[in-house]
Amino acid sequence: MKWIDKNLHIKPINTHIDPYKPVENAIITHGHADHAKPGHKNVLATSETIEIMKIRYGENCAENFQILPTNQSLKINDVLIKFFPAGHILGSVQVLTEYKGEKINFTGDYKTTSDQTCKDFEPVKCHTLVTEATFGLPVFQHPNENEEIKKLLKSINLFSERPHLVGVYALGKAQRVINLLRQQGYDKEIFIHGSLEKLCEYYQNNNIDLGRITKVNLKKKKDYNGEIILAPPSAIKNIWSRKFEDPIICQASGWMSIKQRAKQSLVELPLIISDHADWNELTKYIKFTDAENVYVTHGREEAIVHWCKMNNINGLALSLSGRDDEEQL
Ligand SMILES: [Zn+2]
Repeated sequence: MKWIDKNLHIKPINTHIDPYKPVENAIITHGHADHAKPGHKNVLATSETIEIMKIRYGENCAENFQILPTNQSLKINDVLIKFFPAGHILGSVQVLTEYKGEKINFTGDYKTTSDQTCKDFEPVKCHTLVTEATFGLPVFQHPNENEEIKKLLKSINLFSERPHLVGVYALGKAQRVINLLRQQGYDKEIFIHGSLEKLCEYYQNNNIDLGRITKVNLKKKKDYNGEIILAPPSAIKNIWSRKFEDPIICQASGWMSIKQRAKQSLVELPLIISDHADWNELTKYIKFTDAENVYVTHGREEAIVHWCKMNNINGLALSLSGRDDEEQL
């Protein structure tokens, strides 16, 4: 990694990947707030990531935008850049860079399971892999997401006299939960908090079928019993949620596998639905890439680094500042 430093700065072309602070040239892997920041001069990303950044931060959140579609190469000086779908959220990519014959792949956030709300993950071979490790402990083994959604539908049937408030992050998770409900044949109107509206609209404009969704209007008196209402976890914790009578509080997150965490957030119905790879996906992918070196950037670094050593791979933890895993998952 001589030509790339631990801040994910590609030195020969003075370009950073997912920089935390404004820089001259940035490659953005996806639109989540801990990867996409406003204020860069030049941004290279997929068209979806660029649109998502504009929705969240405004049209002028960077001086210049350049689109690079997935599976197309771009050569800047002697560095070749190619994006591969990361399967994390709409527009998310891994960034493969090649310089003087050495290939380094940055996974960004990723998952390898199928998801109708974004392109499926594509595995890539490389010499060096820079991987996330949000759920990089063997205890993290995500269950099948359809089984988790069935728990929500079962609860609606059992407690049809109570509203079901589901905590979801606004970008990615909200749309995925709606889509999973539709896949299970749930065709009723689904209610959303106002902060989810623009991103849901954007997904629908990209031909992702979310069915009938309606913004909650608390000024109008309405009976929400037996309905599904999606809102960011912060709204569920604040005064907004008190307008609903005796709701069942649910939350869709990979962290819901930690019972203590669900309890602390007063979540009655935890749904373990993650947009990140679990331990098995992380280790399986590291093996697939044939990478000699693995750098772990985000999350539970030590266990993956140890696993690499046991498997004769050079593993190293890269500590990046400014990362925040809350609500992103
Ligand atoms: Zn993310």
